[in-house]
Amino acid sequence: MSAGTPALSPAASVPAQVAAVRKVYASGRTRPVAWRKAQLKALMRMLSEREQEFAAALQADLGKNALEAYLTEISITRAEAAHALKHLADWTRTTRVPVPLGLQPASAKVEPQPLGVVLIIAPWNYPVQLLLAPLIGALAAGNAAVLKPSELAPATSAAIARILPEYLDPEAVVVIEGAQEVSQALLAERFDHIFYTGGERVGKIVMRAAAEHLTPVSLELGGKSPAVVLDGNLTSIARRLAYGKLINAGQTCVAPDYVLVTEEAAPKLLRALAKVMREFVGKDPSRSANYGRIVNEGHFDRLTGYLADGTVVSGGRSSREDLYIEPTVLADVPLDAPVMQEEIFGPILPVVTVRDLDQAMEIINARPVPLASYLFTSSASQQRRFEQGVRAGSVNHNAAIVQLAVPELPFGGAGASGMGAYHGKHSFDTFSQARPVFSKGTLLDTLRVAYPPYNGFKGRI
Ligand code: NAD
Repeated sequence: MSAGTPALSPAASVPAQVAAVRKVYASGRTRPVAWRKAQLKALMRMLSEREQEFAAALQADLGKNALEAYLTEISITRAEAAHALKHLADWTRTTRVPVPLGLQPASAKVEPQPLGVVLIIAPWNYPVQLLLAPLIGALAAGNAAVLKPSELAPATSAAIARILPEYLDPEAVVVIEGAQEVSQALLAERFDHIFYTGGERVGKIVMRAAAEHLTPVSLELGGKSPAVVLDGNLTSIARRLAYGKLINAGQTCVAPDYVLVTEEAAPKLLRALAKVMREFVGKDPSRSANYGRIVNEGHFDRLTGYLADGTVVSGGRSSREDLYIEPTVLADVPLDAPVMQEEIFGPILPVVTVRDLDQAMEIINARPVPLASYLFTSSASQQRRFEQGVRAGSVNHNAAIVQLAVPELPFGGAGASGMGAYHGKHSFDTFSQARPVFSKGTLLDTLRVAYPPYNGFKGRI
């Protein structure tokens, strides 16, 4: 830039930045498997060497405990990269397929191809994992990528923008920080795939913008993930629910949003929930190093509004100044109360009693399709009925959230909770085209039999 030339605003510089990434992709640099492997290894090294910096940023943005940050952001992402690295040779392999007799001699094969330049837009709640896990799939498949971290986790966004270029190819993987204006400038560009994680409202904006360029999208959205409790060790069930609900102070897309419990099990479950929450974060969770904070005032106000939607069984205290909301269990909640209509995304757990599994499934299926569903019972037949009767991004028995740590399981929503899935090979497939290649020689003109005029065919078909 010459002296006196005004600097472009972040949004105004987007077209040139995207064009530069496209040029790198067009040069073929990202296609060799060696380049992909080098990127994945560098990403793993970055997560190990710079873990402290990411942990400090996550603490600043969300009050995330260092161990929680390690487990849910660093190690899970590194495991995803290690899995991709281990299986890359297999995933990138060309598959020969048989050719029908009438077309022979010929050969046919399917070759996974990168899509091109992909855009990854991430949210604030797991701002490292939800930006880098899709990137792993994009790199494994040989794409160049533009990354847009969330402005609502500013320390993490800045850390990523600073650290990533030190490890990854800085011309093929570009981080563009910013809020809505930058996002919209990005969405005006043509990409070969857009991978968006976040809420439904913006999901629709992304899909509308993508339609303009006929760009395929993955939408990783949220929803009210139900947990149904029928029977079992209620203390252990309460621990699993509380773990899923309290991690990241409830700001987890697959957190159990609400509980449907049989009238019989309800009193014991409510007591157990109060007890295990104290066990996890102490009598005064505001002093606990194991308990996070709400991301901003807007979400704090929305969440504290829910506290009046039922009877507070445990918890209920909050401090706006500290963005703190005590883990809270609500009972006597009407099904039409806002806390039972909107995704909670915070440490408030409404518990609603039901007659049986049928009534629970009716309540679940009357709502938009959730990202995850959880059933707690030891009955295999009830488990099968739940699997068959409920529509959700995933079905999980007797555990919550930990399903995310299985790299072979596709992670994604259905209906209102999103479209497309990733993790492991599913990420590779999301960012690849399964391209068919058919080839034949010209020496023997064996296709002549199918050419017009068709008179010769009569009677033969
Ligand atoms: P957010 O506000 O951080 O938004 C996500 C991204 O969209 C950000 O990068 C933001 O800059 C961008 N954005 C915001 N407004 C925009 C606009 N008008 N145009 C274009 N881009 C825009 O995150 P959020 O939406 O508050 O995230 C919470 C939601 O995400 C919850 O519903 C949660 O369930 C869901 N979620 C889903 C998953 C999943 O994996 N399925 C994971 C985490 C969160």
